[in-house]
Amino acid sequence: MKNKTNIVFVGLGSNRGEKKKNILKSIELLKKYHQKILKISSFYRTEPYGCKNQNTFLNAIVKLKTELSPKEFLFICKNIEKVIGRKKSFRWGPREIDLDILFFGKKVIKSRILTIPHKDLHNREFVLKPLKEISPGLVHPVLRKRISRIKS
Ligand code: ADP
Ligand code: MG
Repeated sequence: MKNKTNIVFVGLGSNRGEKKKNILKSIELLKKYHQKILKISSFYRTEPYGCKNQNTFLNAIVKLKTELSPKEFLFICKNIEKVIGRKKSFRWGPREIDLDILFFGKKVIKSRILTIPHKDLHNREFVLKPLKEISPGLVHPVLRKRISRIKS
């Protein structure tokens, strides 16, 4: 049976190599895996989060439509990270590309491999800013607040 389609928001971040190219290539790969891209935010230059002693990040958010399940979609994200050449790094450490699933329809998921909505998104200005740009009316299914009303 076919899965229902869901609207998904993906956060992309790069602070190593050709940052803009890494993000654009990830978006191309998402398309290649038959994900229908609906919107792309502006690209935001941001200071590193958590571990400060590293290059600045370039961040963007993509809104897309998918027929995949959350788990299948996570595997695609991991595969794209691999293709773009992300080496094993430490938490919050430098990376060619990081794909985070921010929202997956209205789903709330807490499993060993996946937390949706992304657990820290409401604290991260580099996620909130592009989200406010492309989808200010979106309601966070756990906080039950519009994105435009969330302050980091
Ligand atoms: P971080 O993004 O926190 O710096 P990683 O990108 O290395 O760390 O991700 C670590 C793990 O987080 C992934 O292997 C994945 O299983 C898990 N994870 C949990 N929730 C999510 C989510 N919403 N989006 C992407 N990965 C997630
Ligand atoms: Mg990640």
